[in-house]
Amino acid sequence: MLKRAAALFLSILFVFSVSLPIYSVYTLPFTDVNEGKWYFAPIVFVYKKGYMNGVSDELFDPSGTMTRAMFAVVIAKIAGKRDISYTESPFSDVETGKWYSDSIIWCAENGLVSGYETGEFKPSRPVTREQTAVLIRRLGDHLNYDVTYEDETLLSLFHDRNEISGYARPAVAWALDYGLFSGNEDFAVMPRKSATRSELAAILYRFSSYKDTPPIVPPTIYTVTFKNYDGSVLYTDNVAAGGTAKYREQTPVRPSDEMYDYSFNGWDKPITPINENTVFTAVYNETIREYIVNFINWDGTLLYSTTVKAGENAVYIGKTPEKPDDEEYTYVFSGWDKSMNCIKAETVFQAQFEAVIKPKSQRTIDPNKPMLALTFDDGPGAGSKSILDTLDNYNVAATFFDVGSNVKRYPDIIKREVEIECEIGNHTYSHPNLRNLSSASITDEVTSTNNEFIKILGYAPELMRPPYGATNPTINSIINMKIILWSIDTLDWKSRNADSVYNVAVGEAYDGAIILMHSLYPSTAAAVKRIVPALLSRGYQLVTVSELAYYKGYTMVNGERYFQFKNK
Ligand code: ZN
Repeated sequence: MLKRAAALFLSILFVFSVSLPIYSVYTLPFTDVNEGKWYFAPIVFVYKKGYMNGVSDELFDPSGTMTRAMFAVVIAKIAGKRDISYTESPFSDVETGKWYSDSIIWCAENGLVSGYETGEFKPSRPVTREQTAVLIRRLGDHLNYDVTYEDETLLSLFHDRNEISGYARPAVAWALDYGLFSGNEDFAVMPRKSATRSELAAILYRFSSYKDTPPIVPPTIYTVTFKNYDGSVLYTDNVAAGGTAKYREQTPVRPSDEMYDYSFNGWDKPITPINENTVFTAVYNETIREYIVNFINWDGTLLYSTTVKAGENAVYIGKTPEKPDDEEYTYVFSGWDKSMNCIKAETVFQAQFEAVIKPKSQRTIDPNKPMLALTFDDGPGAGSKSILDTLDNYNVAATFFDVGSNVKRYPDIIKREVEIECEIGNHTYSHPNLRNLSSASITDEVTSTNNEFIKILGYAPELMRPPYGATNPTINSIINMKIILWSIDTLDWKSRNADSVYNVAVGEAYDGAIILMHSLYPSTAAAVKRIVPALLSRGYQLVTVSELAYYKGYTMVNGERYFQFKNK
């Protein structure tokens, strides 16, 4: 489209008021000048006129460089030099007797060419396109043509016009005005490029009708401005009416900000044809930026990494960060070192911990004596207060697998469970059978319960007991906590009978057992009042599940199930 419009306009430039001779049937001796080429007629013209010969009998070398010596020889012929042999040369590098010497010296005497300040002529140096315009204009003057007309309107269409040397600019404008000179389809005049032999032939061909040719009437020219998003001018182009504007600089770039990356999408309107002075504004695509957010633990280890769209919130998905306790302190996760809202940069969140002085244990455990773990599910509930009182009175511990919805309701009981050194465990939020849930729902049941513990205690439990003991390897891996089942079931929920619960718990007790009861029933609470002293009198230590595992030499692993911890 652009090319076609440009070609159309260029054809306007080269319509002459007199027709040039056509030589379509003429035969040239040169094998490199093909009849279909644009320079065929010009070369026939200069050859027939005797202005230019081939570089050999068979070759014209149309794309060969035109040297200053060649040019002087051609100019001298057209200007009418008579046979003359000089014996002295005004140029240090032009010896007399060469094929070009007489022509150069004659042209210099007639003001058609000039040498350099160094006294040289530099005969083998190429003639540039702008020099061609200057030299042809001098030739015209020598031939008494009127070469005074100068109008830069046409020149203003050529985007490389400012590369023309100051001395040559009027001559280039003149040559364009008379159609002697043409630019390329991209509206470049290429002033510093070496002129070729075929280009000189074309200029001479057109120059032959100079006297009968009026200057070209310039078309209406419009100035087209290309602006960036901020109104700054990127580029201006002059375009003839009906032509096509062209942006000739680097693709415009808009700096990306913290929210968006920008890519150039084009201009705000089509750019052809131009029939008025027009402003084009660069249009950009917006892409929301993305940032990497890292969550780092106290020791610099990466806990979690996520990518967040600019302006969105970062969310930590993982277990609550832990810092190992030392002899003096227990560490409680207290949050992150900054807000996770509206991320607008690559961000690192560092886990912050609160140091809590470690309470001295009231209990002493002898690893060589028998021990077992009492566990209470489904609480906090109706039996909780009494059970905790009993445990506290005898200075023993148990493990409570609490239900998230109850945890939320009874925070004070949760705090007391921990205060008397019992262990807490996760028993889901709403007590479903996990075999009937999707992976996402299982994760939600477990995570929401841990979050309730975190709200009250600042940390989440290590242990988890699935309701009804209903689990399988897939569920275990989704839960990804230490999964604790039991080895002695008191069936307290079924009997609701203190004697019955007492008989199972005490009658079946053994070293390493995990005994299942529930926090919900007064009958269970009543049984516990008798179970604790009975087990103590039989030599059992009543410990938490984690203590039992530890003193029996087990290292529990997330996603694994444990029923009991017998001596290894
Ligand atoms: Zn339960």
